Amino acid sequence: MNPVIEVSALRKTYGDGETAVHALRGVDLTVWPGEYVAIMGASGSGKSTLLNMLGCLDVPTSGRYLLDGFGVGRLNERQLALLRNRKIGFVFQSFNLVPRTSALSNVELPLVYSGLRRSERRRRALAALEMVGLSDRAKHLPSELSGGQIQRVAVARALVTGPAMLLADEPTGNLDRRSTEDVLGVFDRLNSLGRTIVVITHEDEVAEHAHRVVRVDDGLIVSDEVTRAVGAVS
Ligand code: ADP
Ligand code: MG
Repeated sequence: MNPVIEVSALRKTYGDGETAVHALRGVDLTVWPGEYVAIMGASGSGKSTLLNMLGCLDVPTSGRYLLDGFGVGRLNERQLALLRNRKIGFVFQSFNLVPRTSALSNVELPLVYSGLRRSERRRRALAALEMVGLSDRAKHLPSELSGGQIQRVAVARALVTGPAMLLADEPTGNLDRRSTEDVLGVFDRLNSLGRTIVVITHEDEVAEHAHRVVRVDDGLIVSDEVTRAVGAVS
């Protein structure tokens, strides 16, 4: 079994000379399939930079990154985009759904260039909506859904390609309390079904759902704790 994430001595420096910012200063991190990890840290600690590296959205200054066993270091832009699309399901703070398009079509979107037949795309999109408990809202437009439901559609869209991990950046940052619980409940369920989840957050409530909490400060991992056993239901 390969780790989903295997990062060593990862560094990222923005700019150079006197004005250089060392956003990551040597990060080592291994995440195994089925883990649910929260990455926490104060503003400016390097969380977004780390997310950009883990998500193959940007390249590190130095260090090594294997994503599901694939070396990310030597890939060009196009290969990086392919790996990203195959391996990672992104969930961002803002939902990025297409407004005047049904929940189902939004979830189907990542499959449009997959070469799959339309009926198969439909089937997979419906299955993903079912996983987030929204089969009965497939025909609804985003404007007809609550914030929590919209974010669950975004989670379904992230799942539909069968990625090696869900990578979420402040996924509940724009949600009220009830919607937050709604989305965290979906993450719990997906993880209990074996999905690997890495969530970047500064909210304790979100981190409490993860089974492992990694704290970042000033570009370094300062603690990495297993807070409960994999598969344990709290
Ligand atoms: P966080 O997400 O934890 O708030 P960031 O990763 O955004 O932290 O930022 C870490 C450090 O890197 C900060 O000092 C920030 O100002 C700096 N930084 C982030 N992105 C850039 C950039 N594109 N250019 C220059 N400095 C940056
Ligand atoms: Mg940030």
